[in-house]
Amino acid sequence: MPKVGIDPGHGGHDPGARGIGALEKDVNLGIALFCKEALERCGVEVIITRTTDKFLTLFERSNLFNAEEVDLAVSIHCNASSSENADYISTYVIEKGYNAEIAATLTQRELVKVTGWPDGGVREANFHMVRETKMPAILSENGFLTNPREEKWLSIPENQKKLGEAHAKGICEYLEIPFKPKEKVIYSDVAPFTKDGRTFLPVRAFVEAFGGRVEWISATQEVICYLNDKKLTMKIGSKEMKIEEV
Ligand SMILES: [Zn+2]
Repeated sequence: MPKVGIDPGHGGHDPGARGIGALEKDVNLGIALFCKEALERCGVEVIITRTTDKFLTLFERSNLFNAEEVDLAVSIHCNASSSENADYISTYVIEKGYNAEIAATLTQRELVKVTGWPDGGVREANFHMVRETKMPAILSENGFLTNPREEKWLSIPENQKKLGEAHAKGICEYLEIPFKPKEKVIYSDVAPFTKDGRTFLPVRAFVEAFGGRVEWISATQEVICYLNDKKLTMKIGSKEMKIEEV
């Protein structure tokens, strides 16, 4: 079982960067907890430095990862700038050319995809958490809390979840294990059915009214609806509806 260290930056009396209302330590923790949940769902053992608003020194964090011999160390932060227009997202390593750069590149790609923010790329920096850890280590700076638009987005738990899932996707790719999207099952009142060679899906009008699209996969006898960032799957004759986040 692969083992990953997750470190939500700051905590306790150290708030980290601050925006108008949001504190970096809280946003980091939100993203990290969602990332932990997603990685565990994918069969990864997670060592996390904190799950509450608690202060830890940098050495307490790096020592934990070194003692646990995690395969990859991931520190989660948000950036700050004297310019409120700074808006890029970037991932840091101690030095390019090693495995950490691969992990950073794969993670960075997912972070850009989920936020739509300018790609600041993978960068080198002499940060404690990428320097004092004995395994490949990356540090993500998830946008700028000093940018009001990004601060607002980062303060929403649903968006922290998107970033947590995005980190997990990149990490799974680095570990070469499949990423399992979150899945939920609900039950529809009426099952999809076929009649005179046509497929009838009772929720089709609603899906389309909300801007989604419906696909029929004849090989598997499945009806798949794409709605916002969700994929809904139903089989002919079954009231079961599987919901995945995509
Ligand atoms: Zn920070």
